[in-house]
Amino acid sequence: MIKPIHTHHQQAIQMAEALGISPEELEARKGFLHFTADEARLLQDLLEPFQREVPLFVEFLHDRLGRYPETRQILEQVPSPLWLQKRHIEYFIEMTEGQYGLEYAWNRIAVGLAHQKIGMEPKWFMGSFSLFLEWIIPRILKDRTATPEKNIATILAVIKLSFLDASLALDAYFQADRSMLDLLSRVFDTDVEVVWILDTDGRILHANKTSGRIAGRDPSALRGTMLQDVLGMTPDEVSLFFADIGAHAREHEFWEGEFAVARPDGSSFPAWGTLNTVHAASGELSHFILEFRDRTEDKKVQEELERRTQDLLRSNKDLEQFAYVASHDLQEPLRMVTSYTQLLARRYKDQISEEANEFIGFAVDGAARMQALINALLAYSRVGTHGRELVPVETQTAFEQAKSNLKIAIQESQATITSTPLPTVTGDPIQLMQLFQNLIGNALKFRGTDSPVIRVGASREGPEWVFSVSDNGIGIDPKFWSRIFVIFQRLHSKEEYPGTGIGLAMCKKIVERHGGRIWLESDAGKGSTFFFTMKPVSRKKGKSA
Ligand code: ADP
Repeated sequence: MIKPIHTHHQQAIQMAEALGISPEELEARKGFLHFTADEARLLQDLLEPFQREVPLFVEFLHDRLGRYPETRQILEQVPSPLWLQKRHIEYFIEMTEGQYGLEYAWNRIAVGLAHQKIGMEPKWFMGSFSLFLEWIIPRILKDRTATPEKNIATILAVIKLSFLDASLALDAYFQADRSMLDLLSRVFDTDVEVVWILDTDGRILHANKTSGRIAGRDPSALRGTMLQDVLGMTPDEVSLFFADIGAHAREHEFWEGEFAVARPDGSSFPAWGTLNTVHAASGELSHFILEFRDRTEDKKVQEELERRTQDLLRSNKDLEQFAYVASHDLQEPLRMVTSYTQLLARRYKDQISEEANEFIGFAVDGAARMQALINALLAYSRVGTHGRELVPVETQTAFEQAKSNLKIAIQESQATITSTPLPTVTGDPIQLMQLFQNLIGNALKFRGTDSPVIRVGASREGPEWVFSVSDNGIGIDPKFWSRIFVIFQRLHSKEEYPGTGIGLAMCKKIVERHGGRIWLESDAGKGSTFFFTMKPVSRKKGKSA
């Protein structure tokens, strides 16, 4: 009975199909070896006497395999040496079972596959065939009951069967190797990149399919052409390419950069690529691998991005300039309006009607309010234009200063303000103070019925500090969370809560100038927490742009 000697029996059957090993093919192979049915019977006669001795042979074989470093290494990798011995015993017993049909072939193919997998090279495993012959031939000759002619015929049968076995195992071994190469070349046929294998003179030995799509070149037509012809370079540029890039790659085993690639129609495109070196086993440089992709789209996107950034910067600057000039220049006439209306109110207080007095009052109010707005706008526009260099700032100090500026409001509202220890960050000291002042000021202003309890904290989260300012005030409905950061956006009338609607816009601008983010969480009626991030002090110099 023939049992599969290999666990990957299914793979062996598939491989037999791939190799076209059918019963007919097997007969044909036996025909080429002149291996006859009589010889099969002669082998079968050996089964009896040798069954008991085969384990000894396998022991001897394993001992031999252990003598060469290459094969010893492989034996040492085998998880269970005893299991392997058992398989080998079965393998050699099968040789004398007299059944050399398809199943026998599958088992021999399984051996080739297993060898390919574990890295057992054919030249080594051919050695075991020869050891087998060395061992079995003297034993056949010892059989005095048989005629010398029969013994010779048996020996020939053993040799022929060894050839048959070896050819099946080798076919499977190399087919498996080839499938691996196919697989590798499919992997190598990436979709995004052109990959060319070059010899050291710059001749293209292999081009992947993508060459067609990206470089407009038939991969098979590229084979054998010189790189310089394809890159559309002048001879000078070529020598530069190899002198410069090739030399760099030789030295560093790698080069990366931009170059132009010419299409057959004469057009060319910018490519970004790498040149890698491949060394032979002897250590000598044997090949280059050039990989590249078309950068045309990248470049377009990059240019567009650049253009938009420039536009945005320009319009931002224009806006800032306008806000600054407008608020600055408006201040003077506004001061006039304010002081003259105030003068009018004082001087004619007793001479005009109650109604006229009221109108004057409105005018004074409006002018004062406008002045407040303009001052706020001026401060807002100055965040970007009049900001100082970012330096290490102790936020504890900025917080204390803000608190001190708000002393009166704090006392009046009987607020409790606490903080965890606050870190040093990279920032603009004045602006950080303004940031705390605006957030704490809002927490005081938008208080509920209880006296305000305001908590300031900071915690390190990865590469940044996250600050929080939380209050127990009126809270903010989530639908307004983004609106309140927009300039002049307020949720209340000036009668309910005084203000200009610039405070949070200013906070946002300050935080963004520092490369941070600002956001909030709030339960309407219960309170709000504003969060913002700041960068820690960089280790290099404690400065950043
Ligand atoms: P202002 O305070 O001058 O109104 P801000 O830009 O500072 O302007 O705030 C915008 C709006 O956001 C405020 O009018 C208020 O409705 C809301 N707001 C800001 N901070 C708080 C807070 N701590 N609690 C409740 N609402 C707040």
